[in-house]
Amino acid sequence: MNWNELLQPDLILEASILNLTPDIVQQYELKGLVLDVDETLVPFNAVDASSELQDWVKQMREVVSLWLVSNNISEVRIGNIARSLDLPYYLGAAKPSRRKIRAAVEQMNLPANEVGMVGDRLFTDVLAGNRLDMFTILVEPIVHADVAMRSHPIRNFEVWISEILGATINPKKQRFTKIHKD
Ligand SMILES: [Mg+2]
Repeated sequence: MNWNELLQPDLILEASILNLTPDIVQQYELKGLVLDVDETLVPFNAVDASSELQDWVKQMREVVSLWLVSNNISEVRIGNIARSLDLPYYLGAAKPSRRKIRAAVEQMNLPANEVGMVGDRLFTDVLAGNRLDMFTILVEPIVHADVAMRSHPIRNFEVWISEILGATINPKKQRFTKIHKD
């Protein structure tokens, strides 16, 4: 695979992970999801899971296996979040390294192409997932509740670089535009 393929998500959700629904997951016949933690599930430095996230996990685990795989090395923080969600986890994953994501997929006992890799970063989450032939889902980062804090220089930089490398940052399949909860 070349760079533009490795950086191309299978699906781009132009909203946070909370807008990924069981319907979407089933539409792509996914049986498991590996979830990034920082800015995918919780803002960076947040110490616990929001009630919205608790609800999301509750409905999603009815249809797929879930694992957390974080590059963060804080056992206290990531462990607490994982325990509050009652989800298994690996930390210190060093994505785009495949090692701990592959381990999570093996624990799920599923073929990699039936597992979604969900994250907010192209050069860690999407790159690692594509290297494993997983179904990669790019979500908008959950950065900060305060609107004034929502600009995201790292993510914007990665999109810019990936476009130079030839990725269109259009999903390979269907594009979901903003999905609003009723
Ligand atoms: Mg992240």
